[in-house]
Amino acid sequence: MRIVELRERSVPISRYRDTAIRGGGLTTSVVAAVTDVIRRGRPVVGYGFGSMGRFAQSGLIRERFAPRLLEAGDLATADGRTLDPFRAWRAVMTGEKPGGHGERCVAVGTLDMALWDAAAKIVDVPLYRLLAETVGRAAPTGDVAVYAGGGYYYPDDDVARLSDELRAFEDTGHTHAKIKIGGAPLGQDLRRIEAAVKVMPAGRLAVDAMNAFDTRAACEAAVALAPLGLWWLEDICDPLDLDTHAAVASIYEHPIAAGEALFSAAEARLLDRYAGLRRERDVLLFDPVHCYGIPGYLEIVTTLEARGWPRQAFWPHGGHLFSLHVAHALGLGGAELNPLSFPPFGGLTDGAAPVGGRVTPSPAPGIGFEAKADLSRLFTTVLET
Ligand code: MG
Repeated sequence: MRIVELRERSVPISRYRDTAIRGGGLTTSVVAAVTDVIRRGRPVVGYGFGSMGRFAQSGLIRERFAPRLLEAGDLATADGRTLDPFRAWRAVMTGEKPGGHGERCVAVGTLDMALWDAAAKIVDVPLYRLLAETVGRAAPTGDVAVYAGGGYYYPDDDVARLSDELRAFEDTGHTHAKIKIGGAPLGQDLRRIEAAVKVMPAGRLAVDAMNAFDTRAACEAAVALAPLGLWWLEDICDPLDLDTHAAVASIYEHPIAAGEALFSAAEARLLDRYAGLRRERDVLLFDPVHCYGIPGYLEIVTTLEARGWPRQAFWPHGGHLFSLHVAHALGLGGAELNPLSFPPFGGLTDGAAPVGGRVTPSPAPGIGFEAKADLSRLFTTVLET
């Protein structure tokens, strides 16, 4: 069982539903991994992309990682039922030294997503079932908690459009949401939050400072936000500025969310030890794609669990179907969804919506991208180029 062809393409990706709004030229890599397994007369193909926010990884994928995958030969599980994504991951990581993650972690995670999609399709089950079984957990039942990520700054009519966006979240079954701060003076951010909590009460609204604050700005913001009782305060400062993190944690009693831009178990240990986080209350955002894919993400979950963190503290970043499957399979607290941002990658399958802030993942085989028409078309074009 092998990967016989690997295609990659860099595509633009917008933080806004209206993709005409300039968003800083963000891109992501989309990949298609063609297997030698034939189902219904056609090869099984796994699809992946680089999650949100860290640009395409074309050079790394094409020149370094895809060739290793193609040269790896047999990648079947021990029982021969399907592809073994862990075996494939080891092949991809051949010769790589620890540390210096750069964005190599994103390139590897992008391929890992496609491998899991293919592996689940080969055995004709949704990814959450294959992943749960692979790590020895019972098949997940029921639903997963989600929240709507978005709330980016609009170049015009920012506050009015932000309010409209939150109303759209509420109208589509979301009970919790997250908006951006840190990109404007504190007074302006407080006006955004004031408008947002008129739609989504503060206890159900998280704010994401996009790693923007230095120590002084972070502490000023923490003091100003503390009386609001927000759901959580996210990405306060540079991801490795653990001193500033700890300073904020010492003065801010409400939940803090961190880890979105950390990529390894070693970094997770440092975060736990030095950032002042409170295990009973704070939130861990590690992105399974950006952390070298599921093998890397599992190592982070296991490491932090051993240090006393509950699984409920993990809410993986990304806002797409893959993170939803991971949260469901591993029994995590919940998952981000991007119902409007990052089309066509964000949100659920076409026509699906949360009920009371919770989602029952689709039982379609693989990740379920085929049930998102625009995204499925995009993946198909990657195969054609
Ligand atoms: Mg964030």
